[in-house]
Amino acid sequence: MLLNQKFIFSLQIIAYSSLIYAIFNFTLSQWFIILCLYFIITCLGIIICYHRLLTHRSFKTHPIIENILTLVGCFALQGSPISWGSAHLTHHKYADLKKDPHSPHFGFLKAWFGSPLAKIDILQIRKLNRNTYQKFIHKYYFLLVSITYLLIFYYFGIEYNLMLCSASGLSWIAVSMVNTITHMYGSRKYNINNKSTNNKLIAFLTFGEGYHNNHHHAPQNYKFSNNDISGIIIEKYLK
Ligand SMILES: [Zn+2]
Ligand SMILES: [Zn+2]
Repeated sequence: MLLNQKFIFSLQIIAYSSLIYAIFNFTLSQWFIILCLYFIITCLGIIICYHRLLTHRSFKTHPIIENILTLVGCFALQGSPISWGSAHLTHHKYADLKKDPHSPHFGFLKAWFGSPLAKIDILQIRKLNRNTYQKFIHKYYFLLVSITYLLIFYYFGIEYNLMLCSASGLSWIAVSMVNTITHMYGSRKYNINNKSTNNKLIAFLTFGEGYHNNHHHAPQNYKFSNNDISGIIIEKYLK
């Protein structure tokens, strides 16, 4: 498990490096592709599938859609849904306490960059851990991602690898912004037992995830606010 976490941390560094390369070298049309990929892997893959569907089971969709979205989420380079979800449920359980894997109140940079290295508890996600497809994705995650990147390289060229990897860099930023900023700055609708906030700017940049205080108040809700883009997509197309 520890090795797995180090790999995820390495993927984060690779994603950030690609993003820096893209900032200095890519054209506007390449950036358009990166932003489209950012929407696909972050909104559909991480937020809707990894977070709201697989981790919190806040809605039900067709198993084929669930399995396809799981694959989409894999390309955000944030590990398998089992490892992502277990870390996230640990966060919900211990939000802003010592055992929280990424509370900014115990070191902002550690929370931003070091969250993949935090000790996680696989027992938090027992149900997902019993799903054969999810177990397969968890076991062969790195092989799956590596083969896909090799295929992209073979058929499309290195610049497409870099564009996808840069979108992953943006996706890491989105998740880290929610983990850190929406536990520090913003308004609080619910006076619950942690420091979570609602932050409209972060919500805009992260397809609704920034309504984080609402989410901590009711993690079982698939829609965090009336302006929550991801919640609207779930409501209209996935439920
Ligand atoms: Zn939180
Ligand atoms: Zn959550």
